[in-house]
Amino acid sequence: MPKDAVSVHYLPTLPLTIDRRRAEFADRAFEDRFARHCLPERNAQLKVSLLFSAGFYVLFGLTDIATLGPTATAWAMVALRLVVALAALGAWAAISRHPDSVQVSLRSTCAVLGIGVGVFPVLCWYQPEAMAWNLMSHALILMAIYVIFPNRFIYALAIGIGSSVVFAAMLLVQGGLKLDDLVALVLMLILGNALGYIAARRFHLAQREQFRSTMLLQELADRDPLTGCLNRRVFQSGMLDAELARTRRYGTALSVILCDIDHFKRINDTHGHAAGDEVLSEFAGLLRSMAREGIDSVIRYGGEEFLLVLPQTELAGAQVLAERIRHAFAEAATMTANGSLVSTTASFGVASVPARHPSPPATFEALIAAADEQLYAVKRGGRNGVRGTVITAMPVLARAV
Ligand code: GH3
Ligand code: MG
Ligand code: MG
Repeated sequence: MPKDAVSVHYLPTLPLTIDRRRAEFADRAFEDRFARHCLPERNAQLKVSLLFSAGFYVLFGLTDIATLGPTATAWAMVALRLVVALAALGAWAAISRHPDSVQVSLRSTCAVLGIGVGVFPVLCWYQPEAMAWNLMSHALILMAIYVIFPNRFIYALAIGIGSSVVFAAMLLVQGGLKLDDLVALVLMLILGNALGYIAARRFHLAQREQFRSTMLLQELADRDPLTGCLNRRVFQSGMLDAELARTRRYGTALSVILCDIDHFKRINDTHGHAAGDEVLSEFAGLLRSMAREGIDSVIRYGGEEFLLVLPQTELAGAQVLAERIRHAFAEAATMTANGSLVSTTASFGVASVPARHPSPPATFEALIAAADEQLYAVKRGGRNGVRGTVITAMPVLARAV
């Protein structure tokens, strides 16, 4: 079969579906990933929103005094407004102290909005003659709830509708309004919520669609299309150096396994390049299925050479894994599209930095070089085997063969 006949085997499997009703990713873990990605920007916006709205909330105390005169009730209202401003400052302090917590950020938003819209009807209750003005203020506050304060869409919806129901109930209980005024004011509340709903939903969906495209492009750029393994771009991304830095800082173990399919050239020569691709894809699938999801990394290091990076794994554990993969691959056979049953073996070199190592290697390349030496020792010894070493001093960088 010509090489062109082999399709791209790997397609990204990210959980990218958006639940359009909730305006969130349907997959909880992916939504969390999105929330963490947005957190710095979100907190910066939240801080501005908190300061801005706390300032205005207190400033509007002037209208309480203008309407009621400098009475005890008016000063009590100003004091209530200050409570809301203090809650906003408390939220500011909380997100400054926990800048990496999505939960703290979300709770701060909801707490301040909840206190703000909880206090507002109390203030309005004592100024029935200013009800129409206050309701218009509430319609503007609805915009802050839906659009200005970064929040989950469903939380904004609950706070917006809940506070409007309280307002509508207050209008009815207080009475004193002509029917046409009452209808106009209730319609205004409905309009405020409807516009807020449309704007917030659009915004939440657009943000997620953009994130989805970015993640998809990132995935396509970082993965090898034939095997679905990470490609060598990971060496530039700093991911592996970060792993080594963690080992140095926390004294944890780190292992790598370098594996290479044996006599692979013969498979290409005997069964064709397309069949070779299928064997490669099968071997990569085996590696990925045996690696710990979200912890280990499987990288296509060269043509038929793969690198497994195993954080917090000692030499013994890495060798057991390599042996399991070696055994499973030697036992398996690939049924290729042209009907041949192809089987072969693979060789494995393992290198480990043990936990609490006094002088871990300075670069990831040093670790790979040590695994490479082991791999070539296996090749020299007849292939289809596993050999490992613990990094003791700076390893020799040149290949042994
Ligand atoms: P050894 O046991 O010593 O590792 O021998 P080998 O034949 O596996 O190694 P060698 O380095 O001589 O050959 C590797 C072959 O892998 C040569 C190359 O054409 C083939 N190869 C590299 N990338 C691909 C690929 O993406 N698809 C296919 N089908 N073959 C590939
Ligand atoms: Mg080979
Ligand atoms: Mg090779």
